[in-house]
Parts: sequence; structure tokens; C-alpha cells
Amino acid sequence: MKRIGVLTSGGDNPGLNPCIRAVVRDGIALGMNVMGIRRGYAGLIDGEISEMDARSVGGIINHGGTILGTARCPEFFERSGRTEAIRTLNRFGIEGLVVIGGNGSLTGASHLHEMGFPVVGVPGTIDNDISGTNISIGVDTALNTILDAIDKIKDTATSHNRAFLIETMGRHCGYLALKSGIAGGAELVLIPEIETTFDEIAHTIETAYIKGKPHCIIVVAEGWKPGMEALAQQLAEHKDLGFSVRITRLGYVQRGGAASAFDRVLATRLGAAAVEALAGGDYGQMVGWARDEIVLTPLKDAIAFEKEISPDLWRLARVMEQ
Ligand code: ADP
Repeated sequence: MKRIGVLTSGGDNPGLNPCIRAVVRDGIALGMNVMGIRRGYAGLIDGEISEMDARSVGGIINHGGTILGTARCPEFFERSGRTEAIRTLNRFGIEGLVVIGGNGSLTGASHLHEMGFPVVGVPGTIDNDISGTNISIGVDTALNTILDAIDKIKDTATSHNRAFLIETMGRHCGYLALKSGIAGGAELVLIPEIETTFDEIAHTIETAYIKGKPHCIIVVAEGWKPGMEALAQQLAEHKDLGFSVRITRLGYVQRGGAASAFDRVLATRLGAAAVEALAGGDYGQMVGWARDEIVLTPLKDAIAFEKEISPDLWRLARVMEQ
């Protein structure tokens, strides 16, 4: 394979630039031309493509975001959009494609593979909702960003003796909330995978107050129902919990910033592994990280998300709430 393309698609995360850099440099080391495709599948359909050399990815390893840009592309859901994309790839002489992105982007990549185009996926999403890898690029950095915020909110919560609801990203998956809750010493974590009643939540807040804690921190995953704001409203009607309640939605700050050391190394390993998978003819696979080594998983299995919250981790979070 002499010429490959690389694109970043869907939700961004802090590990994308280190991964692009690895794809470009490993591709060049293997004697390939590497073509950068801008704006994900949208730029692929429109032919926003140019060659990248080793210098073009210099100085980006410590920059968040993606130098290629990313986008959501409705046309790619249709076979006709994917046909246009393959036509563009052929026009540019691109023989294989590395797609860096989340569940949706890898679903698109899987469809491209089914249409016969050589493609390898790299899991990039802060949600950590992709099977076939213990952890996706960007998760570690996002966790550290959340932890920094929890520590800071704890300071103000302690000063005023308040309960805080802190919302993290994670529409279907409570991974970020659970891990940051444990690391941040939260009194309670609310995640979509586990039902928690209003009475349990109110009880936790009241108990923290009675025990003499100076604050009560509750980390709420975005996908937990009925949601942080509805919960805050309900809690506001219960004036007898001891603490008054405030809310903070961390939002898009979780996607930005320089990648952590862990994410830079992971992104570099997975980016290079993706190029090597293409070179070795392992098409239609996703490169992942498990048992301390690179593992390949068919894209169609990687997107069939079945990861579950570890019961041990959940139990540990509850024990630490004392
Ligand atoms: P992420 O990759 O972060 O999960 P999205 O779910 O928004 O982000 O997906 C990014 C893009 O991937 C979509 O805009 C679309 O172009 C493509 N995509 C997502 N799901 C599919 C699908 N089922 N079939 C084809 N393309 C898809």
C-alpha cells in the first residue's frame, strides 16, 4: 500500500493531534504517502485532501483539538454518500484509510469496509463507550480535567457548606462520572447504568450533613435520568437536607486541552498500529489497547457497545462515601 489517508470525525477529544502525528510519521517510515483529509467524512466527500509530510505534524503533540478539523456528516449515513467518498478516495489514489473517532465514526468506517474499501479505525472518544479496547484516546485527559474541576468545586463547597451536583459528559456511559467520582472523593455518583432513587440521593446528602462533612459532592453523568437540573429542582423543595444545593455543568471544557502523558503515548501507539494494520492487510479492524498490548477487533464488533460498569468499581465508590 503506497498511499493512505487519515481523518478525524465526530466528537473531538484531546488525543487526536498526537494520533494524526503518529499516523503520518509511521506511514512515512513505512515508505507511504500520507494524505490528510479535512473535516472528517464531509471533507472526504468534498475532496478536501492534501499530502502531509513529517514537518506538517511538528509541534502538535501538545495541542488539543485536531489540525484536520472534524465534522458530523449526514450524507455519510446514506450509501450514496459513501459511494461519493470512495470515488474521491480513488480520484486521489488513496488505497487505505485510517479513521479516528467515536462510535458513530467507526460505524461509518465499518460500512466503508463492507463496501470493499480498506479501512482501519482508531477509538477516539472521551465517553469510553467502544468495545475492543480498555480505553479510548482522550478519556484519560478528560478524566483529569474533570478531576481538576471537582477539586476546585470542593474548595468552594467546603467554604460555604454546600452540596454540589457536577455534571460530566457521558450520554450512554457512566465511565467518566464513576472514575472521576472515585478520584475526586465524591459522596455519590449517578450514572445511566445504575438506578438510584430520589430518596437514596436525599438520604446521602442529609447523612453527609449529619456526619459533619463540610460539603457533599455528587457527580452526575449527562445520561442519568431524570438529569441534573430536574434533580436540583426536586432537592430545592426539600429544605431539610442540611446543605443547600448548587449545580455545575462542566460541558465542553472536557473535550479540550493538551493530552495527558498517558493519552499521548496511547494515541501514538494506536496511530502507528493502525498504519501497520493497513500495511499488513488487516482491513476492517479497529486497533485497541487491552492487557497491556495492541489488540485488533473487527469494526463491527467494536461498535456493538456492551461494556458494563465494573461492579467492583461501583462498590468501591460507595464504600469510599463514608
Ligand atoms: P462520534 O464518532 O464521536 O460517535 P457521531 O456519532 O456524530 O460522532 O458520528 C460522526 C459521523 O460518523 C456522523 O456525522 C456520520 O458522518 C458518521 N456516522 C455515524 N453513524 C453512522 C452510520 N450509522 N452509518 C454511516 N455513517 C455514520
